[in-house]
Amino acid sequence: MKCTSCKQGRLEPGYIDTLFSAYTCDKCGGNWIYLVDYLSWQQNAEDFDVSGLPTVAIEAEDTQQALLCPVTGSLMLKYRICHDNNHRLDLSPSVNGIWLDRGEWQLLKDRGLATSLNKIFTAPWQKQVRDDSAKATFEGLYDDKFSEQGHAKLKALRDWLADQKQRAAMIAYLAAVDPYSANK
Ligand SMILES: [Zn+2]
Repeated sequence: MKCTSCKQGRLEPGYIDTLFSAYTCDKCGGNWIYLVDYLSWQQNAEDFDVSGLPTVAIEAEDTQQALLCPVTGSLMLKYRICHDNNHRLDLSPSVNGIWLDRGEWQLLKDRGLATSLNKIFTAPWQKQVRDDSAKATFEGLYDDKFSEQGHAKLKALRDWLADQKQRAAMIAYLAAVDPYSANK
């Protein structure tokens, strides 16, 4: 099989960390994994401790452009791994094959996701990534607007108010120009 990522190498059959079979490009080092091969290992690996696996200190690469499936030649779908990095995994839904760029398997291990690779391709996971991403955006906006310290104070006050019986009256008190005057 020819590598559709670097378009130069060949995908050679082998294993990932001697755990499950996968193909590795002899040029760019990317991995082509069939979900069925991964799942046959993962089903018995619920409590698998990845800390015993070899660690490769390489910066994970990420193909930003659209990638073609090495089997069918059709466009693969991209799935974000988590909200705080831009790495996306490519899935070819018709053959259930996954493309990992060089270093992305290591990234999954570092993130504790080596045994839940398949979950990344589910709707709930992707929704969580979007929600986390939106939350991080708002955090940043409020930090800019109120300063980090001001934001932290407001957040603490907001959490405290949430449990108060007189919450509405307290918010009115805060919003009033002069809560000690009869002329609101
Ligand atoms: Zn390649």
